[in-house]
Amino acid sequence: MNLHNTLTGRVEPFAPEAPPDVRMYVCGPTVYARAHIGNFRTFVATDLLRRALRYKGYRVNEVMNLTDVEDRIIRFAADAGQDLAGFTAPHAQAFEEDMAALHMERPEVMPKATAHVPEMVDLVARLIERGHTYSADGSVYFRIASFPDYGKLSRLDVSGIKAGARVDNDRYEKEDARDFVLWKLKSDEPAWAQWDAPFGKGRPGWHLECSAMGMKYLGETFDLHAGGVDLIFPHHENEIAQSTCGTGKPFVRHWMHVEHLRIEDETMSKSKGNTFTLPEIAARGHHMDAVRYLLSAGHYRKTLNFTWEGLHQAAAALDKIRGFARRLAEVEHEGAVDGAAEAMARKADEAFDAALGDDLNTPEALAAVHGMVNDGNALLAGGAMTRGSAAVLLKQLEVMNGVFAVLLPVEDRLSAEEQSLFDGRQEARRQRDFARADALRQQLEALGVLIEDTPKGARWRRKG
Ligand code: AMP
Ligand code: ZN
Repeated sequence: MNLHNTLTGRVEPFAPEAPPDVRMYVCGPTVYARAHIGNFRTFVATDLLRRALRYKGYRVNEVMNLTDVEDRIIRFAADAGQDLAGFTAPHAQAFEEDMAALHMERPEVMPKATAHVPEMVDLVARLIERGHTYSADGSVYFRIASFPDYGKLSRLDVSGIKAGARVDNDRYEKEDARDFVLWKLKSDEPAWAQWDAPFGKGRPGWHLECSAMGMKYLGETFDLHAGGVDLIFPHHENEIAQSTCGTGKPFVRHWMHVEHLRIEDETMSKSKGNTFTLPEIAARGHHMDAVRYLLSAGHYRKTLNFTWEGLHQAAAALDKIRGFARRLAEVEHEGAVDGAAEAMARKADEAFDAALGDDLNTPEALAAVHGMVNDGNALLAGGAMTRGSAAVLLKQLEVMNGVFAVLLPVEDRLSAEEQSLFDGRQEARRQRDFARADALRQQLEALGVLIEDTPKGARWRRKG
């Protein structure tokens, strides 16, 4: 699979160290408010990547952190009269709900920064020992002059930066590039946002959090690190500096960055009132499946324009695909697969595969889906679709849906557990073990799945 690497500035073969395993880290949300649709542009893109990698035969181990201690969180929690856990828990919960609503797979590990402070302390201690730091006003800073590669990811010229000039903020612009803080002591921050460390009381800087959690779960060098483009500088630049200097090893092999989302051709901002959350979009009558489709329909390295009209078009595109799937399921004409349908499915799969392999080109991959839908609809219209052909095309749609997740209505599929009960019941009936078949039917019913035996075989539907 070819994928753009921010570090080299090129589309190049994605080469994990130990294929088929992929160790991947995504910078997760800062849980100080409900995530907005812009955040989900990035997160859906990384979900598409993990699914595409799996389609390509890889086994993905993904870490997505929750940043639950940084400048804004501390300020907002203090203003609300809450501590960190009390303030961040509802936002973390909402994030899980939103991920599920967009059919994002849950990353294998979702660590919270506050649960990994010892690992962060350990990394700072290593950096101190190796001479990459200095202390000032109780805080520990990373000396960027001690790392000649500083600026390589963001192509920043660091020659003009004055030695000893420092920046304390977690978020800052390229113009403010200076020695950054690893461990902060701020007299005006509450005691619940401070931890003890051998080098003094304080709390981790934001950049440090991701380095420590990434290396804990994925190793000192891992395959892929992703996030939105705004994270290239300073966040990822700083992650590289402190990780590489802490271990003496390269940090990450491949960097993936997702371009920003705009709303009706405008940048998102609180002042424009266009930082929509998923519940706000749902309240306007839109389905989350259409939202996911829209977010998937643009290439991740191009700015995506989110419009209400675009959401309607996304819903219509989904209807078209799902209508095709429904008609395939209803084909009555008995018969084996014919060559035309087989060729159709193969052509679509080849185009789909090539598109994903070409820097995760999801718009091209969706074009392959629609190409198959159009060809298949013509076959249906000509009355030449057999049950065998329909099954092949449906199977192909299911494979593609493994990446896009919303091409088929989710309610119409059984979970792995339900499917195995369903298959077990079919098998029991074939063996005329009706007691067992009945027991399995009851188990399915307890899960809310009702079975109906028709002349054409067993059908299922969800209760209620
Ligand atoms: P944050 O919670 O601010 O750390 O952001 C979470 C993720 O959303 C990061 O990867 C950001 O780069 C990304 N992000 C923020 N705004 C946008 C946007 N308008 N479009 C796409 N991604 C964004
Ligand atoms: Zn991060």
